Amino acid sequence: MALVSYINPLSEEGRNIVRGLGGLEEIFNHNDALMDIVIHTNRQTISNQEVVPDTLVDLAINRIKWYIERKNNKEFNPNDYNYFFNERIVEFDTIAYHILAQAIASKFRPGSREVKLFVESQGLMIEDRLIKMQLSEKKEIVDEILNDFLIQDGIEWSFLKDLVATKKLSLTDLVLQNGEIVLDKEEFVYSFGDKFSGRVPERVYDILIGDNLRELILTKLLMQKTEDYIKSIQDKLAIVEMHPSIVELGEMLDEAIDETLSEYSTYYASGGSYGNMEIGKLIREAFPPCIANTVAGVSSGGRNDAIVLLLTSFVSYARLYPGIFGSDRTVKVSDIDTNLNITLNEILPLIFEAADNCTPPLFEDQPQEKINIISKLGFGMHEEVSLENEGETKWYTPMSCEKIKMHLPQLCKENKDCAKINNPLSYYSRKKWIMSKNGELNNDSIEESSSNQ
Ligand code: SF4
Repeated sequence: MALVSYINPLSEEGRNIVRGLGGLEEIFNHNDALMDIVIHTNRQTISNQEVVPDTLVDLAINRIKWYIERKNNKEFNPNDYNYFFNERIVEFDTIAYHILAQAIASKFRPGSREVKLFVESQGLMIEDRLIKMQLSEKKEIVDEILNDFLIQDGIEWSFLKDLVATKKLSLTDLVLQNGEIVLDKEEFVYSFGDKFSGRVPERVYDILIGDNLRELILTKLLMQKTEDYIKSIQDKLAIVEMHPSIVELGEMLDEAIDETLSEYSTYYASGGSYGNMEIGKLIREAFPPCIANTVAGVSSGGRNDAIVLLLTSFVSYARLYPGIFGSDRTVKVSDIDTNLNITLNEILPLIFEAADNCTPPLFEDQPQEKINIISKLGFGMHEEVSLENEGETKWYTPMSCEKIKMHLPQLCKENKDCAKINNPLSYYSRKKWIMSKNGELNNDSIEESSSNQ
């Protein structure tokens, strides 16, 4: 069986492996033993030096690069990173995991894109490793780790409440009986056997629970432990100074993550005949009549929908991701506005200004609408935008002209540029394109636009 650390580098065994490392200076040294494992891994690409780690630092950085490539690169070649699935790499990989966690914790803020990347990469690494394992070996290692976490049959679901609370696990993934999770086959058949007419209960167990649920719980639990580990390092940073080698690794990671992610950025999706739809400063002169009317203030019925649904989605996508309708991917605000500076300094002020222009001012009689605005940006039902809450709700996409005409007809005052337009966002991109062609965009807008790319 593979070492437990292959799946759980936070195990006692994993911590012992790290203690065996001579000193952190070593992580930058050329490592013959590591190279030997890498180049003798079946089907491993060795012609591309970029993917072959020479040092423990390379291995740590490649762990994150692997994840970004694996998630985004349509031509991803699994053989480039095959060594991560060679069980012989476990000791080096365990060290790579720990130095990576320390570097990420010291360089990046809690809840940042980089912390999320690391936690998600660990989840995917576990999933992929389990998939590649032989069935009996997989069962053995999953049972051993789950037992370590005291997850046995009959535990109460509240044991997993942190996972449910952070949406890593959904209650709908679990089978509950009187508040306890049912994981055991015999217990399932005993409890629910008579509930399935015409179906074999054992077969239903295999579909609903089986090994899949145990593996899911294990993966999500280890992701949560990884997140907790990062937090615990960050808490200690107030009293302990990080080793210079880890600080240096943090700097290298910052560069590597930006560089690798930028290769797959589709935030400048093609706008067809209007050129590329780039992010950039908001150009109010390019707003369609429905949006200009909303910004000027809405006095009659529909005030709340105009601000919360129409304007919030329009302004945020126009500023951050005008190419949304030409893309097939799901995005979050922080994928583009990583530190939320644009959201806090440009998007929300414009929405709040429009809310203030309403008669009566929106927040004066309905202050709770601020929370609804935050929620439509994807940050859950909270009073402030915060990376930690992102994903609790969806980033609401802009309404179509058809919907606006139906629900907010008083705002749609079509002009000649509305012809053949089916969404205010398309109007905005087209109008910006026309203005740019006619030399009507001032230099500030153009410079801002390109500096934000
Ligand atoms: S046609 Fe569409 S873009 Fe033009 S004002 Fe009406 S809703 Fe807005």
